[in-house]
Amino acid sequence: MTFKELGIAEPILKALEAEGYTHPTPIQEQSIPILLKGKDLLGVAQTGTGKTAAFGIPILHHLYEGISLSQSKRKVKALVVTPTRELAIQIGESFTAYGKHTGLRNTVIFGGVKQGKQVSALRGGVDILIATPGRLLDLMNQGFISFRDLQHVVLDEADQMLDMGFIHDIKKIIAKLPPKRQSLFFSATMPKDIVELSRKMLGDFERVTIKPEQATAEKVEQGVYFISKGNKPKLLVHLLEQQPQASVLVFSRTKHGANKIVKKLAQADIRSAAIHGNKSQTARQKALGDFKDGKLKVLVATDIAARGIDVEDLSLVVNYDLPNVSETYVHRIGRTGRASASGTALSFCDKEERAYLRDIEKLIKQAVPRMPEHQFMDEDTKDDDDERPARSPRGPGKSGNKNRAGGNNFRGKNNRNTSKPKKRNDSSSRN
Ligand code: AMP
Repeated sequence: MTFKELGIAEPILKALEAEGYTHPTPIQEQSIPILLKGKDLLGVAQTGTGKTAAFGIPILHHLYEGISLSQSKRKVKALVVTPTRELAIQIGESFTAYGKHTGLRNTVIFGGVKQGKQVSALRGGVDILIATPGRLLDLMNQGFISFRDLQHVVLDEADQMLDMGFIHDIKKIIAKLPPKRQSLFFSATMPKDIVELSRKMLGDFERVTIKPEQATAEKVEQGVYFISKGNKPKLLVHLLEQQPQASVLVFSRTKHGANKIVKKLAQADIRSAAIHGNKSQTARQKALGDFKDGKLKVLVATDIAARGIDVEDLSLVVNYDLPNVSETYVHRIGRTGRASASGTALSFCDKEERAYLRDIEKLIKQAVPRMPEHQFMDEDTKDDDDERPARSPRGPGKSGNKNRAGGNNFRGKNNRNTSKPKKRNDSSSRN
């Protein structure tokens, strides 16, 4: 299946070609025909699957086809609501790229900055508006945004909106939407509250599900180190020193933890920056920009700040802390191995995090391969689970990830030539 076969307008095809997209990803292949027909869509999928283009392309197509019908001044005809500023900016960039030959204009609005420029952009007229919920509601209440001409609405990362406490804002926004519209609802997970919210928003819809296992099992090479909390900084420094050229995204559960990691790395002369909610928007954008440009090799992020970060050539994701919500693990490792690329995700698991690891393995339906012994192991970090029956983790080198693993040169990684979890606690090394 090619994009051309999906029946997409020529100027968009031209832009996709320039982006180097040859074939649609599974979510695009399944969603685009539904959306071109004008139906509502419930997409159960995470970032990294190509979901932005899955909704962006058909919206651009519809608006482009209807362009001659529009009046002289541009009105907001498509709205995308997304939880974070970073994600909003990235979605805006995608619309700009895919729509560059269509003459359609988009703008992005988010909180944490003065509203002046955003208001001027709105006054100048836009076709597609990408917004975070708080600022959107704020500008709606001030009368700067009209939904009178709205035809398409996307609610992106709905489960994250809920986690971030945006549910009331979202309900208020949905209440103001015109009844005749095409609605798209995306969420990586579908807890009860999200199902209810989707019912409120969607009319007669079709559902497309892209399973998280597809992203983790097929594309991302994973590994876990058992390590005590105190030794985590040393192991991180060690891994980073082994491959100074790699772009590495390190996840911390807390903002404070992220700052601490940056400090520890600085003590080892490794430059890094943290992005999280306590950092100013300018600092976050600067860190993200430097990371994307390759000027900064190590970015330390909390889950919310990193949500949806789209960096090409991300070599490695490190879960410095394991998340207590298993789906978050899938989101995190989805930062590498995006679209057609493969990637590597390594997790540090201390004693208290063993239960989280078990939950994660249940969700992804595979054992995360145990990394071999390392110099920072101590008695506290032995794998209590070694005696359980092997669950056949995917061994490295089994798929196209082989080259990637070799290129990354993780010590010991290429020695993992067995599909069984490694047994490290032989009696000679323990009393
Ligand atoms: P998303 O899930 O929208 O965040 O997209 C993940 C990444 O996949 C982005 O870097 C996109 O540029 C890229 N991408 C999306 N669709 C395709 C495609 N059909 N072929 C290649 N790359 C794609």
